[in-house]
Amino acid sequence: RWINKAPLGYRNKTTTDGQKYISQYDPEAFLIREVFEEIIKERFSLSEIHKQATSKGLKCSLSAFYRLVRNPIYCGQIKIPESENEKSKVINGLHTGIISVSLFERVQKILGGKNNSNFVKRKKVLNENFILRGILLCPICGKTLTASSSQGRNRKYYYYHCTGKCKYHIRTDYLNKSFLLFLQKEQIDVSFLKIGDDFLKEIDRGRREAYKSKKREIGKVMDRSIDRSLNAHQLFSTGKIDYDDYLLIKESCKTHLKICASELREQALKAGVDIYGKNGGGDIFSHLGDFYEISDVLTKQRIAKLFFPERVIADDNILNMLPEFIKEIFGIKLPKSPSTIEKIGNKEKINHFFKELSLYVFEQQLKGL
Ligand SMILES: [Zn+2]
Repeated sequence: RWINKAPLGYRNKTTTDGQKYISQYDPEAFLIREVFEEIIKERFSLSEIHKQATSKGLKCSLSAFYRLVRNPIYCGQIKIPESENEKSKVINGLHTGIISVSLFERVQKILGGKNNSNFVKRKKVLNENFILRGILLCPICGKTLTASSSQGRNRKYYYYHCTGKCKYHIRTDYLNKSFLLFLQKEQIDVSFLKIGDDFLKEIDRGRREAYKSKKREIGKVMDRSIDRSLNAHQLFSTGKIDYDDYLLIKESCKTHLKICASELREQALKAGVDIYGKNGGGDIFSHLGDFYEISDVLTKQRIAKLFFPERVIADDNILNMLPEFIKEIFGIKLPKSPSTIEKIGNKEKINHFFKELSLYVFEQQLKGL
């Protein structure tokens, strides 16, 4: 079943019994098929192919086009985004594809994309200089930029660069720095701070509850250990076990109780940190730049990914790269006011943004213990 707005090349339809589905729509679908077939010929760059397609009537911005050619919907599959419990995956949709799976996969290989679950991901070492790796697209040919270093005369230089013929590259420190500056300078619009605060409070509440039940649990275990010890004493004094056995049981109970007590202390300590309250967790949303700076590389990368959930064309002006919902969060004026569908979508993205961010704050606070 299809509940969202149909992607380009498709239109929403309803069967006579009210089932919603998407159906191919020509000439859009035809033009999109041509695009995929052109890519594997490797004659033109992606931006040139985009130009050709729009001149033939395909209504699609360049950045939307870069996403389009990576969307498995066109080979009949649907990408399920990452959720709390599951990694993102690709499943077969109920709709018919505009192109074959094999054509789609060949195109992905050419684009160097890793959207398809069939492609083996190369393991990459986390590097402070490459925070935005995997997020950026080449402004010339549309490939995903990778990152590497080169040895200059006096120092090493780090670049996000294209592996295509266009040789596009941009210094990583420029881009990384402008992202940091954005976080330091721009403030989350006050109207959104409450969403973030609510998530932090929810985490605090959840942890207090978890502590209470953990405390009960440990308490029961401790009771049993004490009973066992008393029981052993009883058995010894009535001559049913000998002294060595009694000592053995007594010692093991003592050690066990010690472990329980220290676990209880640890849990109490964790529950005692009110991330929203005293420790200023709520304040972090107003000082995102500071939080980002003290975060570890992995968290930095995850924060960057929150700002850029979809790949964007690299631009030396970070403002040109920001998706709409981020602009909304930071009270930056949008070029055009969003449609109702876009507004609902943005609201979801904003919620997800704050929920994830709250969890990162929580993780960092726990690390500080
Ligand atoms: Zn390129």
